[in-house]
Amino acid sequence: MARPAYPKTLLEFVAQFNTDEACLQYLITHRWSDGFKCPSCGNGKGWWLAKYRRFECTGCHKHTSPFAGTIMHRSHLPVHLWFWSAYLVATHTPGISAVQLQRQLGLKNDETAWFLLHRLRKAMVAPNRGLLQGTVEADETHIGGPAKGKRGRGVAKAENKALIGGAVEVVTYKTKKGVEKERAGRLRLQVLPSADQVDIKQFLNQNVALKTRIKTDGWHGYSTSALVGYTHDRAVQSGSTAPNRYAPHIHQAFGNLKAWLLGTHHGIDPKYAQSYLDEFVFRFNRRDHPMAAFSTLLGIASSSEPLTLRKLIEP
Ligand SMILES: [Zn+2]
Repeated sequence: MARPAYPKTLLEFVAQFNTDEACLQYLITHRWSDGFKCPSCGNGKGWWLAKYRRFECTGCHKHTSPFAGTIMHRSHLPVHLWFWSAYLVATHTPGISAVQLQRQLGLKNDETAWFLLHRLRKAMVAPNRGLLQGTVEADETHIGGPAKGKRGRGVAKAENKALIGGAVEVVTYKTKKGVEKERAGRLRLQVLPSADQVDIKQFLNQNVALKTRIKTDGWHGYSTSALVGYTHDRAVQSGSTAPNRYAPHIHQAFGNLKAWLLGTHHGIDPKYAQSYLDEFVFRFNRRDHPMAAFSTLLGIASSSEPLTLRKLIEP
C-alpha cells in the first residue's frame, strides 16, 4: 500500500479529515504504509488498543503509538483539532492569531487555542536547514517599533527597533515563451546585534554557502572582509539609485515582512523579533507547498529525522 496522498485543496482537506477517526487513520497509514510492524521485534501483527490509541504487538506485547515523535504526542486534544490548526497555520498566508484560531475552530477555551498555536509555532524552527547557494541577495533593515496609536517621525526610536539581516536566493527560470525571469527562492532572516562587518560575516556564514555570489546594494557592513569566501556583486549607491532595483527580491521580502508585522500584529516587541522572523520564513519558504508545511508542523513529515525505537515504543 502506498503512502496516502496529501489533499491538494481546502475542499479535499475537509472531505478527508472530517472526523477524529479519519485523522487517526491517516496518521497510521502514513506511518505504516505496508501495515503495522512492531519496531521492537519486527513482528508484522498488532492489536489496536482503542482506549490507549496504541498498537500492542502480538509477539512481544510492547505498545507502539502512532503519535510518537509528532507534535500530538501525549496531547489530550482531539486529533482533528491538531490537523485543522496545522492546516490553518500552514496555509493562511498572513498567519493566524489565537483569537482567530479559536473562532475558526469553534473552541470554547481560549487557552486551547493559545496552546495549539504555541506548539505549532515551535515546530516552525527547522534546526538542520541547508545553506543558501547559487545567487543570493543580502541586506539588512529595522523592524518593530511602536504599536497602534503612534505615528510620525518621533516614534521611530532605535530602542524600539530590531536590526535584522536578510538573505534570499535568486532563482532564474524560463517562461513558456522562453523569456528568462527571476523569482525569490529560499529566505533567511536573523536578528543582528549590529550592522558591523563581524556580525554581517557571521550572519552570512551561518546562512549562505561559501562561493555563493552575493548581491548587495552597497551597505558598508558588506565589506571585503565580511565577504571573504564569497563572490561579491555590489552596487554602489548614488543618491538617486533605488536600492530595490539592484536587490529587488530581498527588498520585496522585507516589505512583505513589515506589512505582516504591522497588519497582523500591529507592531512587535523587538525582544521576540526572532520568533516572528522564524514564522515568516517558514511560510515564505513553503508558500508553494502548503501540504508539506502542514505535515512539517504536525511533525509527521517523512523527511524529518528518523524515529528512534525509544520514541516509538511506549514505556
Ligand atoms: Zn513486537
